[in-house]
Amino acid sequence: MNTVFEAGRDIPVAGETDVLVIGGGLAGIAAAVAAARNGAKVLILEKTIALGGLATMGHVCVYLPIDDGAGNKIYGGMVEELMHVCHRYSYDNIPECWKSGDWVVENPTGRYQCTFNIPAAVLALDEYIKEEGVEVMFDTSVCMPIMEGNACKGVIVENKGGRSAYLCRMLIDASGDADMLFRAGAECETQKSIVSSWTYELDVEKIREGTSINVLDNITMRWFGLRPDVDNSGSPIPTFYGTTADGVNDYIKLSRTLALDYLKEHDKPGYAFMTMPTLPQFRMTRRLKGLAEMECSEGKHEPHSIGAVIHCLEAPAAVYEFPYEALIDAKIENMLAAGRMVSAGGRGWEIMRCIPNCVLTGQAAGTAAAMAIKDGVAVQQINVEALQQNMADTGIMIHMREDLRDHTTKEAKPPKRRPADKKSAGGIASDSLAYQGKPREQH
Ligand SMILES: Cc1cc2nc3c(=O)[nH]c(=O)nc-3n(C[C@H](O)[C@H](O)[C@H](O)COP(=O)(O)OP(=O)(O)OC[C@H]3O[C@@H](n4cnc5c(N)ncnc54)[C@H](O)[C@@H]3O)c2cc1C
Repeated sequence: MNTVFEAGRDIPVAGETDVLVIGGGLAGIAAAVAAARNGAKVLILEKTIALGGLATMGHVCVYLPIDDGAGNKIYGGMVEELMHVCHRYSYDNIPECWKSGDWVVENPTGRYQCTFNIPAAVLALDEYIKEEGVEVMFDTSVCMPIMEGNACKGVIVENKGGRSAYLCRMLIDASGDADMLFRAGAECETQKSIVSSWTYELDVEKIREGTSINVLDNITMRWFGLRPDVDNSGSPIPTFYGTTADGVNDYIKLSRTLALDYLKEHDKPGYAFMTMPTLPQFRMTRRLKGLAEMECSEGKHEPHSIGAVIHCLEAPAAVYEFPYEALIDAKIENMLAAGRMVSAGGRGWEIMRCIPNCVLTGQAAGTAAAMAIKDGVAVQQINVEALQQNMADTGIMIHMREDLRDHTTKEAKPPKRRPADKKSAGGIASDSLAYQGKPREQH
């Protein structure tokens, strides 16, 4: 490869904080707020111009189940809290049965989930972090961690002001792609992703026909590319790495070509796309291979669990425990992972990328970072029992209840994989799911 020489230079230090959170997705927000609540000064650096990450700029406004599909509440703490924040100014379609504090769903009729209005969630998240005393710097792309041995002293960023540095005592990588941990030398795993892009469409004809007079009911999701729950092995659509410049570029171009082809086919009066995603919609790209890996052993207790987790698409869902050491590298002493890039391989990665689990690991990473600062220790040396107690006090189920352990082993079934349908083999798998209105039940 050809190279050019970039001369070394002094760059201004734009700010200094206790905890720097890289990425303002839902994991980064949970991490930042948890760290602030535990006494740290916190700054989020976000490359786009809004909070929420894939859940807003990537159009994934679907808060997957916080119950296990058998009526048991699994997630409390910030997982439940952020669901309510995303709905603060949105239409309310949180299932009624999820609204009381310590709920149990009697005779559940299926899998519940809720969706939220994206602009309303973006505005609510701005307000939320302000209330919590967290600062954010938008339109700021973090380029490199500044390492001294195994310690991260801060980061180099690029934004409208050019290149500058932010210094910190702890760094939480919530970039979704483990960019900071990887560039700091942590061991990571990458994988290719299918093109699977969402937008939202409005068919005014249906309203004119009198099928429905509610405009909101007629905004539906339109899906381009491949579905992750089907066998795509015969599809001609290529897969892409979300960790290379060319991979991201090609993914974006192809997902937009698929959208354009669809729009050309459906070009008619009264039909419109409402919005386009402004983040590439990659599910799993690069993840940490940490001091521990999440094990998907049904019913197994992890002594250092930071929370019980479920596969959000199963019913009844298998319950697992996620170990603290899967948030950290073996050597790097002041960096933690949060969100869809934590240390969980295979099925574990699929489980941990879902929004509730991203928020859970965010809360744990933020709390742990603040504790490490208070105790003056490395992230490998924090008092995990104290972290567990702190999380439990907010309503997190640290270890799975015995009855859940039992039902996990006996009844849990993996989600069924469907064969690819003709449309997806031909290039476009489209699916129109209810974007809003009633909470959707999945059977
Ligand atoms: C098509 C699709 C459908 C999905 N469906 C569902 C679903 O139905 N339900 C569900 O629960 N989950 C779903 N998921 C998964 C879920 O949306 C994500 O895994 C989750 O939102 C990830 O949250 P996060 O905070 O870990 O990461 P992200 O949301 O990826 O946030 C990362 C943030 O970091 C920022 N960032 C990245 N690099 C830098 C940098 N260098 N400098 C500064 N900022 C940076 C990004 O701009 C972004 O804001 C889906 C994902 C996709 C792609």
